[in-house]
Amino acid sequence: MAGEPQDDCLFCKIVAKEVPATIVRETETTLAFRDINPQAPTHVLVIPKAHHENAAALAAEAPQAAADVLAETKAVADEEGLDSYRLVFNTGSGAGQTVWHAHAHVLGGRGLQWPPG
Ligand code: IMP
Repeated sequence: MAGEPQDDCLFCKIVAKEVPATIVRETETTLAFRDINPQAPTHVLVIPKAHHENAAALAAEAPQAAADVLAETKAVADEEGLDSYRLVFNTGSGAGQTVWHAHAHVLGGRGLQWPPG
């Protein structure tokens, strides 16, 4: 069911502290941790603690949690000292989504090209 922890979800396991992660921020509803395969000097993932499949599902099923995630991306950027940064929500396999628990990538610390690949 939407919002419930999923046994086979890596990010649910990180929320439950069953899988280690380098956590940079935690709130009642969100967790922020460093990406294991960073694509920029700062590459942090911000997730809702509740399980929602991707950003579209999160927005539809839990709009307040979606707002919390967005607010936390700014808090991460502030803590990392980023003036410019990119937020990415890969949504669907065709867009590169590989983990099926909603997450915002916060990328910064180097120049970023547009359009993305
Ligand atoms: P996606 O491709 O947008 O779904 O992003 C998933 C991200 O999760 C990728 O950037 C991975 O490097 C990252 N990732 C996968 N496993 C872990 C982990 O155990 N800890 C932290 N990040 C992870």
